[in-house]
This record gives sequence, structure tokens and C-alpha cells, in this order.
Amino acid sequence: MIKQSIFRVARSRAFSTLVKLLENLESRPNLLRVLTYHRVDYLDARPDLDPDLISATPEDFARQMEHLAEHCLVVTIDQVLESVRDKLPLPPRSVLVTFDDAYSDFSEHAWPILRRLGLPAVMFVPTAFPGQARRFWWDTVYELLHTWKDDQELRELGIEALPNETRTQTYRRVVCELKMVPHDELLARVAELSRQGGLSAPVSPVMTWDELKKLAGQGLTLGAHTQTHPLLNRVPLEMAVEEAVGSLQELRSHVSEVASILAYPGGAFSDEVVHHLRDHFELAFTTCRGINDMGRADALRLRRINVSCYTPNSLVRAQMLGGVRHLNHRWPLESASG
Ligand SMILES: [Zn+2]
Repeated sequence: MIKQSIFRVARSRAFSTLVKLLENLESRPNLLRVLTYHRVDYLDARPDLDPDLISATPEDFARQMEHLAEHCLVVTIDQVLESVRDKLPLPPRSVLVTFDDAYSDFSEHAWPILRRLGLPAVMFVPTAFPGQARRFWWDTVYELLHTWKDDQELRELGIEALPNETRTQTYRRVVCELKMVPHDELLARVAELSRQGGLSAPVSPVMTWDELKKLAGQGLTLGAHTQTHPLLNRVPLEMAVEEAVGSLQELRSHVSEVASILAYPGGAFSDEVVHHLRDHFELAFTTCRGINDMGRADALRLRRINVSCYTPNSLVRAQMLGGVRHLNHRWPLESASG
């Protein structure tokens, strides 16, 4: 209800005008806004994939990037790394554009727009996926729940749809519940569901290594996103470190120059995980909302602003205003998945 009210206000002309006015006053250096995108595609393009991960349609993405090109300074990962290493302030209006999961629609829709505008971007790659006929566990659950339309059939799979719940609501609830269990249990449960549900072999939703290498050659920055995309607070510490470091090594075996950067899958981490990754990574990105004041931010717990096709663009832009850093305390820097 509150969310709907905020969205209604954000869609008003007055709100857009106010955001525009405040954007023109931005002058404070060393604030880094990091945008998180997942997929850029049309809602019905891949009925087998969770559309909640579509951040923008290609047209909306083009408008968003044109705005950044005109009004912001889209920085490279090297600029961020240099500013952290040398403690040099980033220029005012600095923005880093990041993508998680390496979905194939990036090369089809997002990259041509970024190239046309000459904007740099970072892609965080779960390295066990490129070139493999496997999909992410949430996409498997999504397909199952939307293929098996009947409540009784779902019950046979051990999934209870609650009264008055839409299929999408059931899906989101099941995903939340699965995120709470240890990763190996989650995978076993999803594999069993997939077997019982008789899903056909998946078409890989992720770019191949050849594509990733080609894009890296054209200027796309690649970063680690673990190997198999476990929530790092749902696996033993040793495995969490191995997943993160192993993914960086795998990237480096395919692409010669890869910076020591990581995005925590699902935004999940623990103090212990961060502590052990400090020796291996220079920057790591959470999914905690907010703006990074680089003079004070922990480089292994950087905040990001998620872009969703459901969120009005004026609201994303409002979250990028420098003054919003004073609201960071409202979104504590803790693991997104408990
Ligand atoms: Zn991810």
C-alpha cells in the first residue's frame, strides 16, 4: 500500500520536476551511485524466465542511458579502483552501471545501446553458467509454477498455493522460502521439483564464453559473481571463499585482464565472508540500497540502487540524488537474504 502510494507520487509531473531541479544542483564530489541491472528485454520475450529480473525494456533502457550520458558522469571500474587506491575523490555526479548474472539479452539489447552512447559498464558473471545447458534455480521454479497451472498439481509437487494467491505471488513466496535454507538443500529441492515436474532440458539463458570474450574485447568490464551463484551466507565459509575466488580465477582464465571485483549473489554476505574475501578483492558490491560516500564507504560492502521495470524512473533518479546518502541508515548494510 505504502509502495503504491510512493509510486503514484513518483509518477506525478511535480515529482519529476522536483527531481530535475535537485539534479541540476548536484555538485558534491566523491559520491558513487551504482546502478544494478539484470535483464533488459521485453516482458514476454522468454516465458521460461522470471520476468521479475527484467530491469527495463530496451526502449526504457535507452532512455535511462541517454539521461545518464547527458546529466551524469558514467565512470569505469578503473576510475573507481584508482579513487579507492589513491584516495582521490571521484568527480560530482559519478555513476557506475552494473549488470548481474550475464543473461543473453545483455548482448542483444543493452550492449548496443551502451556502445552507441560510449558508456562503460560492468557485468558480474556466475562462471559455472556460460556455455552450459543449465539455468538458475529461480528460473526453474518460475517455469514449474507457470507450467503447472493447477493447484492440485502443485500440491503433488509439495507446493501449497495459499487462498487468493496469484501464481506470481506463490512463485515469489516460494523463492523467499527457498532462500532461507542451506544452498545444497535448496538445489536438491529444486532438482527434485524439476524431475517431478518433468521439465525439458533448459536452453541456457546466459551468454557463452565466446560472447563474453568478444564483449570484453569491445570494452565491457567483467567481474566475479561466484561460480554457481549460491547465497554466500547459506554455504560453509570455506565454500563461500572458494566460490568467489574460484570465479575470479575462471574469469581470468578466459579474459586476460580482470579486476578483483565481486558482486555478492542475491546481495547475501556475512561479516566472516567479507573478512575472508578482503585479501582477494578490492571492491565488492551488495544489494543494499543507498549512495556510497567513497571517503567513508567500506570497499567490500558497496551499496547499489536496483533498477526494476516496475519502479518509476523518476524514483530511481531520486535515489541517485546526493542528499539521499543521509537516508543510508534506513537501509542498514546487512545481508539482503537474512
Ligand atoms: Zn546474481
